[in-house]
Amino acid sequence: MLNGKTILITGASRGIGRETSLLLARNHAELILNYNSSEAEVLKLADEINQMGVRAVSVKANVSDRNQVQAMFKKIRSEFGRLDVLVNNAGIINDDLLLMTKEHVYDNLMEVNVKGCFNCMQFATKMMIGKERGKIINVSSIIGRYGNSGQAVYSATKAAVIGLTTSSAKELGQLGITVNAVAPGVIDTDMTSQLKPEFKKKLIDGTALKRIGKPVEVAKVILFLASDLSDYVSGQIIGVDGCQVV
Ligand code: NAP
Repeated sequence: MLNGKTILITGASRGIGRETSLLLARNHAELILNYNSSEAEVLKLADEINQMGVRAVSVKANVSDRNQVQAMFKKIRSEFGRLDVLVNNAGIINDDLLLMTKEHVYDNLMEVNVKGCFNCMQFATKMMIGKERGKIINVSSIIGRYGNSGQAVYSATKAAVIGLTTSSAKELGQLGITVNAVAPGVIDTDMTSQLKPEFKKKLIDGTALKRIGKPVEVAKVILFLASDLSDYVSGQIIGVDGCQVV
């Protein structure tokens, strides 16, 4: 499905990013696997993908750091010469009640989840301009659409990702670039293992499917958005949440 496509996945080392990398590799995309701290995990993943006969290289960059992102794109330009798809997946969570949230927690969430997404979108667009083709896929959250008690700042960052997606889709469509987002519900990754059990149970009970989602179930929607099957889809926020009523 993705023969000849070069794809950057941010936060590829674990969770949704890891499963997405494996699924896109099985569909023959060549991959740039971004990570920030999980070097051993990403090297193992790159190895696994290379053993499938698919090219994958890992690049360390903190997406919130403009200089590191610039250096990552310089490497992509020199080693691959092209970028067809960006999957902006890297993200962090740090929940607290509005009145309890410390300023540094707010700043860090905004820096990684919003600025990180923005940084990669800007550099990726520069590489896609002139090709009259390109796909940007952002990972938002159901919490960015509907909010949740105890997650005001995380919710705000994921709502910002929706704003970046819908507005950029309108700007970049004339260049042949589509911009979409997935909005996962509760997915079984390290991120949700940090949630308080009673809070997690409440979220799962709130899904029509009555179960937690698997990272590969988000990856499948990302595959659709990365492939030619979605060529006339842009500016959309696609829920992958088991029909969650929060
Ligand atoms: P995860 O298992 O905690 O993995 C997070 C990934 O993001 C890791 O690969 C991590 O890399 C990377 N990352 C974190 N900070 C980074 C930074 N500054 N620069 C580069 N990479 C960074 O999380 P996940 O559950 O797979 O979540 C992936 C995305 O889905 C996030 O944007 C999250 O908000 C969103 N989401 C998740 C859920 C869910 O239920 N799990 C629901 C809705 C939305 P290192 O390990 O190398 O630091």
